[in-house]
Amino acid sequence: MGRYIGPKCKMCRQEKVKLFLKGKRCLTKCMLDRRSYRPGEHGQKPRKPTDYAIRLREKQKLRRIYGIMEGQFKNYFFRVRKENGITGENLIRLLERRLDNVVFRFGFVSTRAEARQLITHGHILINDKKVNIPSYQIKIGDVVRINDGSGLLERIKESMSLAAERGVPSWLEIDETNLAGIVKSFPTMEESGLPIQEALIVEFYSK
Ligand code: SF4
Repeated sequence: MGRYIGPKCKMCRQEKVKLFLKGKRCLTKCMLDRRSYRPGEHGQKPRKPTDYAIRLREKQKLRRIYGIMEGQFKNYFFRVRKENGITGENLIRLLERRLDNVVFRFGFVSTRAEARQLITHGHILINDKKVNIPSYQIKIGDVVRINDGSGLLERIKESMSLAAERGVPSWLEIDETNLAGIVKSFPTMEESGLPIQEALIVEFYSK
C-alpha cells in the first residue's frame, strides 16, 4: 500500500486548515500559525478559486485527513455510490469505520498514521484476534484492544491523556483501564465532526 511521505504541514497549508497530522506537535508549534498561505512561489498571491478547484480541495482535504491515496479514495467513492442513502454521508461512514481511524478515535494514538503503524506491527486485536490491516472495516459490537504483550503501554497512556481533550466520540465506548474499546454504532455525519462539505466531493466525482 502506497503512502504519502512528504511534509505533512504542506498539506495543511495547501488546504488552509489544520488537519492535525503531527499529533502533539500540532497543539504546540503549528506551521499554519506562522505561514497561513499556500506553499510555493505564488502562494501569497490572492487567487479566486474556480468551482472545480473548490470541489477538488474539499476532496483532497478529506483524503488527507484519513491519509488515503488517490486510487483507494476513488474506489471508496464508487463503492458507496452504489449503496442506498446519501453518498457523501456513506463515504464518511466508510472512512470512519476504518480500523486505523477507530484506533485514533479511541485515543490510543495521536494520529491516524501512528495508528497504521501500530496495526501493521500487530499491536491491535479485534475480538481477541490480531488484525494487521489498517483499512479493515470495523463492525458494531467489535472490541478493539491493545495487544497485552505489545510493550507500548507508556506511549499509549500518554496518547490517551492527550486525546482526553478531544474526547472519544459517542459511537465508541472506551475502557481505559483495560486499554480496550467497543464499537456501539456507526457514526453520523455530525458525530464525525469533520470540517467537510461532503456534497462538494460528490459533485467533484459527478462531473
Ligand atoms: Fe498541520 Fe499545524 Fe499539525 Fe503541521 S503542525 S500538520 S500545519 S496542524
